[in-house]
Amino acid sequence: MATQNQPLLTHRAELMARLAEPCRYDIAVVGGGATGLGIALDAAARGLRVVLVESHDFAKGTSSRSTKLVHGGVRYLAQGNVALVREALQERTLILNNAPHLAQPLSFVMPAYHWWEAPFYGIGLKMYDVLAGRAGLGRTEFLSCKETLTQLPMVQSAGLKGGVKYWDGQFNDARFALALARTAALHGALLLNYCRAKSLLHEAGRVAGLLCEDQLTGQVTKIECGCVVNATGVWVDELRGQDAHAIGGEVERQTQPMVAPSQGVHMVVDREFLGGDCALMVPKTADGRVLFAVPWLGKVILGTTDTPRQDLSREPEPFAEEVEFILSESAG
Ligand SMILES: Cc1cc2nc3c(=O)[nH]c(=O)nc-3n(C[C@H](O)[C@H](O)[C@H](O)COP(=O)(O)OP(=O)(O)OC[C@H]3O[C@@H](n4cnc5c(N)ncnc54)[C@H](O)[C@@H]3O)c2cc1C
Repeated sequence: MATQNQPLLTHRAELMARLAEPCRYDIAVVGGGATGLGIALDAAARGLRVVLVESHDFAKGTSSRSTKLVHGGVRYLAQGNVALVREALQERTLILNNAPHLAQPLSFVMPAYHWWEAPFYGIGLKMYDVLAGRAGLGRTEFLSCKETLTQLPMVQSAGLKGGVKYWDGQFNDARFALALARTAALHGALLLNYCRAKSLLHEAGRVAGLLCEDQLTGQVTKIECGCVVNATGVWVDELRGQDAHAIGGEVERQTQPMVAPSQGVHMVVDREFLGGDCALMVPKTADGRVLFAVPWLGKVILGTTDTPRQDLSREPEPFAEEVEFILSESAG
């Protein structure tokens, strides 16, 4: 295993050669998104022998396509799940402290168009401040109409009753994932991209490894391990389905799907859409969800939607209704 003082093996051929060496890993992680990379880092930091295979590039899936928010669980507060809010706030603090170059506080303004909205959401967000305690990033403030328009000059002024400003976090999801990958490698994990898990291997009725295929050369390699973690995100049932075929008799039980896939769409528009440095939060869209307009790399990200989709495309395209929905909700 590599240590902090050894150079990292950066050439893919060397990594593939290392994979082919006889080794029984403690954990094989399938999927190089936020979940798989986080697991690989955690396990490697505990001294376990870890290998991770990713079929495409690291963070190629959902983990580079998020709204870029490191939220401390504000939406769980609305559901009354205080324990989850506390956990999310703790994780937010860890991310902001561990990676200040990739994650920063961001202020959000929620314009209010009904008299009850500012007190209703404002009190909830004040509770968010209380729960955050010293982990808070800034105080929630009630804004007048004038202050709301100063923060967000482009919001509709007709009917505006005021607003609420609160603080949360923002991060670079793709770069954060790569930082996790590099740190896991520093701790001795072997991570391979463009290497797809084809099927699981069994010994005495238990999972004992997997076969993976180099997507660049077609070479198939056997990985032996004590445990396989399926961290393939929305594709989780694909690998489970292949496993069901492999072990025959238990097909019925094994192929019950675990996820109900859906897609979320973002639109990228010019920075002038917001006209300021704050993010915009719409607390309740026509379909009852939250919509954000977030400044990002000189542009603004608007989103998102939640549309059931079964085909699990690697490059899903937005439906026309989703584009329409985002534009109409953002226009106020
Ligand atoms: C529209 C949208 C917006 C979001 N916004 C936010 C946000 O602002 N903040 C936030 O914290 N969270 C957000 N999330 C949630 C967050 O993005 C996900 O929870 C997270 O990215 C999931 O990571 P993952 O590793 O589980 O899945 P993924 O990132 O999808 O990773 C799974 C990986 O498995 C790989 N894979 C699949 N099959 C195989 C195989 N057979 N062999 C090897 N590899 C395989 C895929 O290529 C993929 O890279 C958002 C989600 C969506 C959909």
